[in-house]
Amino acid sequence: MNRTDRRSSHRLVRGVANAFGIGLRRRLGLGLLKLALTIARMADRLLSGGDNPQSTALPSGRHPTHLRTLQAWLQARKAGLQAMDVDPLTGIGTRQAALGEIGRLIEHSENFVLLRMSINNLKTINQHLGNGVGDQLLVALAQRLLQLQFHRGQVYRLGGDEFLMLAACPANPTELHEHLRQALCQPLELEGTSLIPSLSLSALSYPEHGQEARRLLRRSGIALSLARQGHDGYRVYQEELDLRDDRERQLLRDMVLAVRDDQLRVVYQPKIHIADGRIAGFEALLQWQHPQLGLLQADTFLPLAVASGHMALLGDWMLEQVIGQMAGWAAKGRPQHVAANLSAVDLEDAQLSRRIAGWLAERGVDPRLLMLEVTEQSMMREPALAARLLGELRESGIQVAIDDFGTGYSSLTQLRRLPLDVLKIDKSFVLDLPNQPDDALIVDATIALAHRFGLLVIAEGVESRRHLDLLAAAGCDQAQGFLISTALDADAVLGWLATYSPSARHNVAGC
Ligand code: C2E
Ligand code: CA
Ligand code: CA
Repeated sequence: MNRTDRRSSHRLVRGVANAFGIGLRRRLGLGLLKLALTIARMADRLLSGGDNPQSTALPSGRHPTHLRTLQAWLQARKAGLQAMDVDPLTGIGTRQAALGEIGRLIEHSENFVLLRMSINNLKTINQHLGNGVGDQLLVALAQRLLQLQFHRGQVYRLGGDEFLMLAACPANPTELHEHLRQALCQPLELEGTSLIPSLSLSALSYPEHGQEARRLLRRSGIALSLARQGHDGYRVYQEELDLRDDRERQLLRDMVLAVRDDQLRVVYQPKIHIADGRIAGFEALLQWQHPQLGLLQADTFLPLAVASGHMALLGDWMLEQVIGQMAGWAAKGRPQHVAANLSAVDLEDAQLSRRIAGWLAERGVDPRLLMLEVTEQSMMREPALAARLLGELRESGIQVAIDDFGTGYSSLTQLRRLPLDVLKIDKSFVLDLPNQPDDALIVDATIALAHRFGLLVIAEGVESRRHLDLLAAAGCDQAQGFLISTALDADAVLGWLATYSPSARHNVAGC
């Protein structure tokens, strides 16, 4: 290769690399230059249509991932996709290309299935192992999908962590899903790290689940978001999901009005000291009095608020209300301990502790009366930011509780490193306490260990006297649940306090 050849090859390789978004960090060696020329020749042959399919196979080399991306790109170009329809990272078709192909199949009345999948832990992988490893994972999964080639499957990247496979109708879609998962979730070696991809999958079929490309794609997305929340990570689309989706859309549309038109309200659920039945404080819970849908519990609309970006608005509104209410009770000579919940969005807000301090000072409320509850899941989205915020809150005198303990994956030993005062055992363990010896064991062990770490323990979901007795025997400090009271309107709290008697129903001393 003479100097001019080498210079033009160099330019060619850079051009090809740029076209795929592949950064060439190292100086190119002669071997790679030769390879680049092979690629360029192959591209020419492919794009001019004069190849045979075998000749598109690339030799394995020092950069197999990038080369396979190139192979996928060439195949996509060959299939007639425009550059804008090709995903630059993986080389497979984009959402636009998928929509085009779905439309074409509908036009030709060909039946097909849409298998949509997302990587469950891409964000964590990007955070902990770097975006480079995340990118390589996406490329590797695209490759695995391409290699499967069953049921005449075509694959697309819908953006982010999502892929779509468009396949001829299999005899048994569940088998197809199993097969797909088997093939995709094998361990991968990326930059010396072994990774096991974890995926959620959804399936729907044409013409059964819709007759129009965009609607089919939207419905596959609805089913996938439910698959992500479910236990087995798989969901077949059903008509009811659309109704649910319509309702969620309505809630999202109406959410801004909820704050503006005063439809939100805060209710307060009491907590007691188990040992003597005294009131320990209240947990503030958000509710929405929707003009058409009636009273909505937090569970039904808060996850939507988090997903849609409305949570910051609701979070601030809620905290201001709670602090205002605490000031009101203090002004009547009845100051109360109140716990409020923080969402994942709150935890990523670096200014939140400053704003809370401002509201407390403005209303003259003692920070030691306020507790803030955070869940493990919300802590794990941005652990460093969250830990800093919790540290700041604690420094100002506010107590911090870990909520829903037991539903996430963290161990108490991990949590010990976080700035915490209180551990709340999730109601799913407490509710089954009388019937499930395993749950009783977990609760006992959790309480003992939490105490060793100096944390106060609160059990939620205390619905019966039997629950309370078992918790007392396990040494739990405080209880919250329907046995003591459901959540009360702010106006009803002082009246309830006046009639509450520790000895009547809840005193378990002597247990
Ligand atoms: P959480 O923090 O675990 O709140 C306790 C939930 O358990 C409440 O549901 C409450 O009504 C329910 N509960 C209380 N006692 C019992 C019982 O004895 N048995 C049973 N089965 N359930 C009981 P709710 O009000 O639907 O709240 C659900 C979740 O929504 C809360 O779970 C919390 O994570 C979140 N949430 C509520 N209000 C807010 C808020 O203002 N901000 C944020 N970020 N999240 C909130
Ligand atoms: Ca809570
Ligand atoms: Ca809880």
